[in-house]
Amino acid sequence: MNITVIGTGYVGLVSGTCLADMGNNITCVDIDEKKVQEMQQGKIPIYEPNLEELFQRNIAGNRLHFTTNLKEAIKDSTIIFLALPTPQDKDDSADLSYIEAVAHDLGNLIDGYKIIINKSTVPVGTSDKVKEIVASHTEIEFDVVSNPEFLREGYAVKDFMEPQRIIIGSRSEKAKKILSKLYKPFISIKRPIIFMDERSSELTKYASNTFLATKITFMNEVANLCEKIGADVDMVRIGMGSDARIGNRFLFPGIGYGGSCFPKDVNALVKSSDDAGYDFKILKSVLHINVKQKKSLVPKVNRYFDNNLSNKKIAIWGLAFKPSTDDIREAPAIDVINELLLKDDVQISAYDPEAMPNMKRIYGDKIHFAANAYEALENADCLLICTEWSEFISPDFSKMIALMKSPVIFDGRNIFDLEVMDTNGFHYESVGRKIIKS
Ligand code: NAD
Repeated sequence: MNITVIGTGYVGLVSGTCLADMGNNITCVDIDEKKVQEMQQGKIPIYEPNLEELFQRNIAGNRLHFTTNLKEAIKDSTIIFLALPTPQDKDDSADLSYIEAVAHDLGNLIDGYKIIINKSTVPVGTSDKVKEIVASHTEIEFDVVSNPEFLREGYAVKDFMEPQRIIIGSRSEKAKKILSKLYKPFISIKRPIIFMDERSSELTKYASNTFLATKITFMNEVANLCEKIGADVDMVRIGMGSDARIGNRFLFPGIGYGGSCFPKDVNALVKSSDDAGYDFKILKSVLHINVKQKKSLVPKVNRYFDNNLSNKKIAIWGLAFKPSTDDIREAPAIDVINELLLKDDVQISAYDPEAMPNMKRIYGDKIHFAANAYEALENADCLLICTEWSEFISPDFSKMIALMKSPVIFDGRNIFDLEVMDTNGFHYESVGRKIIKS
């Protein structure tokens, strides 16, 4: 099938590349000329495991094309995916301006039946809005379908290729038939397509993301309580997770959720609910708790150093909002760094395997970016762990101690065993577990 994907970010590029790998002919459109030029030259603009190989293979196979020209891109495609940004607006709602702008363009450009499929996360009613905008420019037949994307950065290729389910929100039999054919290679008995109306589909995405944000936040609250009453959150987590009704995933406490989705999606659902006259109290608490949790390492550091961070050198491992991505949107490391930089004379030396170029765009030379994890530790008064990259999990502890001024770790991701920290002589504070004193 000939398919157009509008927007070549984490969702659009992964979707386009994976659909090309199934033999479809894909044209990806983006307004970012530099990005498009680079992709035309075979340069992949994001870090996502296993994507580059597929990207190169499908460019070489002449199934994956890039352009800034929307008119050309949609000429031969019946299927048009929207994978456009829906960032948080000033009033906390999802900013639909990117989607609306493209809907106007499509209304002016379509020259035959098209299915406009929205993969972006959008408030309930957006399909109707897009339909209205397109129809205001054309008499030509088209359908607008809601098809929210559930891929996770870091596992995006696997998630797209083996989705747990595909949600299609549409009442058009014609569109449903074409999309069933398109998605056939991706589904099985265990991985079904679930058809529903557009509004239910749009809400399914928000309900899923905000439920997961709530689950994380609930565990962070349990962990904070553990610290106060001397329980071990690891034990509590294992005990809870062995109950099939609860499940053992998304129960790991830490320094809050970040990323390009959960924060904005929780805000947007709260705003939509308020607008609809519904007070979604649990999500309001989630928002409030997460803001505090993202900074929660800093009070621990302050307490340890008696509120005197003057001339302290603080090492940070992990800047991305989670491992296996270079994405730093709403990363807890940013909250931690901003809070530390409020203090005079704190020096920060940070390391991340993939996210440093993005972080450099925010902080420039305000912080030092180390060449590797060990260099970040040189002469450091303490280490803060903000992202659980696998390369941090089994380090050379004696080398760490030799490099650091004092062997002190504040771990926001609970990556080390307490006994190992004890045996190696670290002062170690993690989330919801007892403090190991050196
Ligand atoms: P992104 O910011 O990485 O990419 C968006 C792309 O769209 C950019 O390359 C931008 O240049 C391009 N763009 C903007 N306006 C355009 C226009 N008029 N024409 C063509 N291209 C245009 O965004 P993303 O992370 O891929 O997210 C896209 C949507 O998918 C959002 O609604 C997001 O909430 C949702 N989503 C994201 C993820 C994720 O893990 N990133 C997962 C599921 C759903």
